Amino acid sequence: MIAAIKDIIKNSNHIAVLTGAGVSTASGIPDFRSSEGLWTAERSREELMSSAFFHENPEEFWHYYKSIFKLKLLQNYGPNQVHRFLNELEYGRERVDIVTQNVDGLHTAAGNGNVIEYHGTLKTASCPVCGTTFSLEKVIEETIPYCSCGNILKPDVVLFGDMIRFHEEAENLVKKADLTLVLGTSLSVMPFNMLPMVATGTKILINNYPTDKDYMFDYCIHDDLSEVIEKLKA
Ligand SMILES: [Zn+2]
Repeated sequence: MIAAIKDIIKNSNHIAVLTGAGVSTASGIPDFRSSEGLWTAERSREELMSSAFFHENPEEFWHYYKSIFKLKLLQNYGPNQVHRFLNELEYGRERVDIVTQNVDGLHTAAGNGNVIEYHGTLKTASCPVCGTTFSLEKVIEETIPYCSCGNILKPDVVLFGDMIRFHEEAENLVKKADLTLVLGTSLSVMPFNMLPMVATGTKILINNYPTDKDYMFDYCIHDDLSEVIEKLKA
């Protein structure tokens, strides 16, 4: 199957790649959405990381946000071989689009030019009033980060209750791609998991374990993602 997939990748000119936590775990980043992860762990966390809680109590929100996402550690992580493989796909191809659920900014750090951060990013925070965006350094430095206009910043990660801003754009990308490659995601988070459904080209899924959406794909590999990528590069 590896040989067949290599051929398909080689012959695809516009590739859409949908990525999840499994792409970042090889960089040492915990899988925030796994069964032990952030999003399913306990209901109170879902409440704490909600846009409603931010608006009610932004000071307390920032306290929890920083500890849950371990922001200080974020600067220690870098792209791994999977990110680099996806960057190399750009060479000699018309277009590679990445739609990622990850909030760590590592696809952009690896050099990919067309990245949609579907669930936002931990790397910046913006002023909900004037719209100015600030860096992670500032966010880490200040216990509660303020804009120069006097308002408390809101993280640019998508909080529970926030709108997903790029769903339609992501749909359009997978509709146009001749290959949709889904990597390191169990496709359990809505509405991201709807994207493979509208893809019109060949669909390939590589994930550590089977997903509920495997039936949508032409090819599925259930194996360690980094190892599969090594084989695809060989
Ligand atoms: Zn402001």
